[in-house]
Amino acid sequence: METREPEMYDVVGIGFGPSNLSLAVALEEQRTPLKTVFFERRPSISWHPGMLMSGAKMQVSFLKDLATFRNPVSEFSFVSYLHEMGRLARFVNNQDFFPSRQEFHAYLEWAGAKVAHRVTYNAQVTAVRLPEPHASGPADHLRLEVTDPRSTGGTRLVGARNVVISTGLVPRMPPGIERGESVWHSSEFLHRLKERDTDGLRRVAVVGAGQSAAEIVRYLHDNVPGVSVSAILPSYGYSIADNTPFANQVFDPDAADEFYRGSHRSKEAIWHYHKNTNYSVVDNEVLSDLYQRAYADEVGNEGRLDFINLARVVDVKQGPNDTRVTVHSLAGEESYDLDVDVLVCATGYDPMDPTEILGDLGAHCLQDDEDRYRVTRDYRLVTTDALRCGIYLQGGTEHTHGLSSSLLSNLAVRSGEIASSILDSRVAEEEMGIRV
Ligand SMILES: Cc1cc2nc3c(=O)[nH]c(=O)nc-3n(C[C@H](O)[C@H](O)[C@H](O)COP(=O)(O)OP(=O)(O)OC[C@H]3O[C@@H](n4cnc5c(N)ncnc54)[C@H](O)[C@@H]3O)c2cc1C
Repeated sequence: METREPEMYDVVGIGFGPSNLSLAVALEEQRTPLKTVFFERRPSISWHPGMLMSGAKMQVSFLKDLATFRNPVSEFSFVSYLHEMGRLARFVNNQDFFPSRQEFHAYLEWAGAKVAHRVTYNAQVTAVRLPEPHASGPADHLRLEVTDPRSTGGTRLVGARNVVISTGLVPRMPPGIERGESVWHSSEFLHRLKERDTDGLRRVAVVGAGQSAAEIVRYLHDNVPGVSVSAILPSYGYSIADNTPFANQVFDPDAADEFYRGSHRSKEAIWHYHKNTNYSVVDNEVLSDLYQRAYADEVGNEGRLDFINLARVVDVKQGPNDTRVTVHSLAGEESYDLDVDVLVCATGYDPMDPTEILGDLGAHCLQDDEDRYRVTRDYRLVTTDALRCGIYLQGGTEHTHGLSSSLLSNLAVRSGEIASSILDSRVAEEEMGIRV
């Protein structure tokens, strides 16, 4: 039985990437009386640091920042950031809607510093539970266990009337292939490359057909002289990301409403027609650049770029000196081995899944007939009567709210909706006399 009384908060955010940073901004701007804290396991804000390569650009307009779509005059906007940095005029002269990822990262750090009082870094939430014991009737708060080296015993207990889970995408490896010394996932690419003696790199294989795969092929070609890169693609070459105006409407704030209200068939249709806005696709600029390199490589007989189409990695054996990759080619329905120094798996991510962190509490979160969490329009998990407190999701809602679930496009509006929902339930509880 727990003896310590936890510190009690109205809102506890788990994770402090762009989604919960945007929520912190919304709460700051709404000047709510809510007592909040966000826990982030990393020592500082870091947005996909393993892929923060120079030259990599955003796949979303700078106006889809942490705040603008919710509050166009926000002091937390990307434009405010540029203004404060003294770069606004030069940014505009550049005539480019898509800043570099490095610049967007710097913007996130800048915004994060303005709400630093709401965040505890180096603090990982390991469990969310019902309070033990709790009085009869629905639980009005949850207990969180937080690994925090600054606390006595290294663990901190926190009470939360509302929890907002935003732990991010989960790196996915090809089936049956494990990470190792020479087998990396794209999410750790830059860190692993930094640890490695790149002078010794002769051949690297990059598996995958999406943006990360293409960016890594290009980065290796640019930055590791002498290395040969084999790109292993399940398709017949990279396909272009649909970034055209009509298709882009699937990321509009209104689209979340339409998707949410839509039938199973309409949801399937949106996914079917528009998944090429985001999944297994590459920006035109990167794609064209890679093709030109491949052509120049062929003309110059350099042998540094090799594209293996319609192929999958089916096995990997890691030895002390090199790594043997078994590739199955669909073209000839044959398998063969490729010896490489490193295999990079740019094989994507699974959506955020709160199941692990919810543990036994998951039994109180209702699911649909496809075993997916039921979520209300305001991103709140539908729970049994045992709970009165709120559990909100930022991410993992593609089945209910559509394609922008894991992206930046709708962050500002979504965070505003979550902040309002939390505030409204507090006001309702006060009016009903449940809470004073
Ligand atoms: C390389 C790459 C580039 C991308 N570029 C774009 C883009 O240009 N445009 C776009 O719209 N989308 C892009 N995305 C999609 C991406 O999901 C979003 O950009 C964004 O990261 C979503 O923010 P988030 O806060 O939901 O998740 P994340 O950014 O993943 O943040 C989650 C945070 O939670 C922390 N955390 C996890 N578990 C715990 C825990 N138990 N306790 C405490 N902290 C925890 C993590 O350390 C992390 O900081 C990109 C994705 C990748 C991988």
